[in-house]
Amino acid sequence: MEFKKILFATDFSEGSSNALPYAVSIAKQYGAKLYFVHVMYDVVKTSGWYVPHVSMDELYRDMEKNAKAQLEKSFIEEMRGFKDVENVVLQGTPYEEISRFAEENKIDLVIIGTHGRKGLDRMLFGSTAEQVVRFSPCPVLTVRLPKHT
Ligand code: AMP
Repeated sequence: MEFKKILFATDFSEGSSNALPYAVSIAKQYGAKLYFVHVMYDVVKTSGWYVPHVSMDELYRDMEKNAKAQLEKSFIEEMRGFKDVENVVLQGTPYEEISRFAEENKIDLVIIGTHGRKGLDRMLFGSTAEQVVRFSPCPVLTVRLPKHT
């Protein structure tokens, strides 16, 4: 078994940061390409709120810019010595986008935390971890926060 492409899904929470060392270590051991993937929620689709199209486009452009900057900033240390890394920002429902990206890019392993951000996101979407495990086309490594054991 070889892992050539690894997807690390992050919502920038403590739960996903806790899973990061596993992604980095496995990617190094296998010489794999590492994808850092963040999914921006599709506010309109999930809430049903009416928002004028133009302002939504602007909002998403802004969110995407910020998410890309945060991906670059957050993993700068871990990425030292890594050549094959890609930061990816997607838009939609996290488990659907993660599973779709894994399928389209022939990802060999997805790595996620068992816990993410709390609050409205979680109320709207439920457990991303649980649904990625159910729908991902490839194996998923879920990493638990020590205090939740
Ligand atoms: P949750 O099941 O929502 O508590 O989140 C569990 C894990 O799923 C997190 O630790 C992340 O690894 C991943 N995750 C949750 N939301 C997102 C998101 N919007 N984009 C990428 N990964 C996510």
